[in-house]
Amino acid sequence: MEQVNRQVRLAARPSGLPTASDWEVTSEPVPSAGPGEFVVAVTHLSIDPAMRGWMDDRPSYVPPVKLGAVMRAGGIGRVIESGHPDFAVGDHVYGVFGVQEYARSTGRGVTRLDPAVAPTEYLGVLGMTGLTAYFGLLDVGRARDGDTVVVSGAAGAVGSVAGQIARIKGCRTIGIAGGPDKCTLLRETYGFDAAIDYKAGNLRAALREHAPGGVDVYFDNVGGEVLDAALTRLARGARIVICGAISQYNAGAVRGPANYLALLVARASMTGMVVFDYEDRYPQARAEMAGWLQEGRLVSRDHIVPGGVAAFPEALLMLFNGENTGKLILALDGG
Ligand code: NAP
Repeated sequence: MEQVNRQVRLAARPSGLPTASDWEVTSEPVPSAGPGEFVVAVTHLSIDPAMRGWMDDRPSYVPPVKLGAVMRAGGIGRVIESGHPDFAVGDHVYGVFGVQEYARSTGRGVTRLDPAVAPTEYLGVLGMTGLTAYFGLLDVGRARDGDTVVVSGAAGAVGSVAGQIARIKGCRTIGIAGGPDKCTLLRETYGFDAAIDYKAGNLRAALREHAPGGVDVYFDNVGGEVLDAALTRLARGARIVICGAISQYNAGAVRGPANYLALLVARASMTGMVVFDYEDRYPQARAEMAGWLQEGRLVSRDHIVPGGVAAFPEALLMLFNGENTGKLILALDGG
């Protein structure tokens, strides 16, 4: 039987949560490598909240995915054919290969994986989410010893790493996540000093209890009401890191923070960040985080779902339903 390359393409632009009709599963012949190219058999795909934004026809830090195009996705895989001088058959690589089983590449933006490290770490702690946590917390948030750091989306891929780095740097850490099980995970697995279940209500009172002296760094992954609550507890000179706002990604009209005047009172700053701006410093950050992993000071947790590319639409929804604990990864059939 001829081998095919199964793909997921964007069929329609969603309003609200994506539905099955926004996607089309297609098949093509497996690509072959021309001179200066190689072909990757993709084993795992990174499932990211940002994908929802890429489905909208709106300017952002990367262009929208075109209708009919293979959905954009970061992934890891193995080189199976090569006409490229720097990539050999058998190399394990990371790149933006898309939601498909095989990808042809020129090597642009592709990283060769260190065989000593579990490959999925390149989608988590040593990948985009871990690097976002690192630069967001340390560069934008300027977290330092003795600070009180609050992280939302704290049981997720970015949030769990941000909280742990804050702990490593000597900060008091408070994580916000949905439900008692995730709060237990925050305290017992990731070592947060305190955990708050935002679904239990009265977030403001909980923040008052756990951060009596105010919040020095608020690392925000969710936006909306959680951001508004955090704004009521700022210490003087607080830094708010706008990493993401997942509560708003399916909302249509984004709800801005009502309590923004707290920034004035606290002489605080609120700064957006995009991880790609730190590309030239990825090797240094990866090396430092790999050291923490090795020493057991940083715990990484993958949430791998099986099912191949056809399971992509359902996997993406897990992020918005809070079903993932740790970095959400889709395993392809070869993975
Ligand atoms: P993640 O946190 O692993 O997964 C998403 C989590 O968001 C869910 O598990 C859920 O956890 C929470 N959530 C979903 N809907 C919510 C809502 N309405 N209100 C509050 N929480 C909600 O995802 P991730 O990949 O680590 O991404 C986290 C954030 O970082 C996202 O906002 C993403 O866009 C952002 N990001 C930014 C950059 C950058 O360069 N700026 C790079 C990567 C990621 P609960 O069960 O706790 O609700």
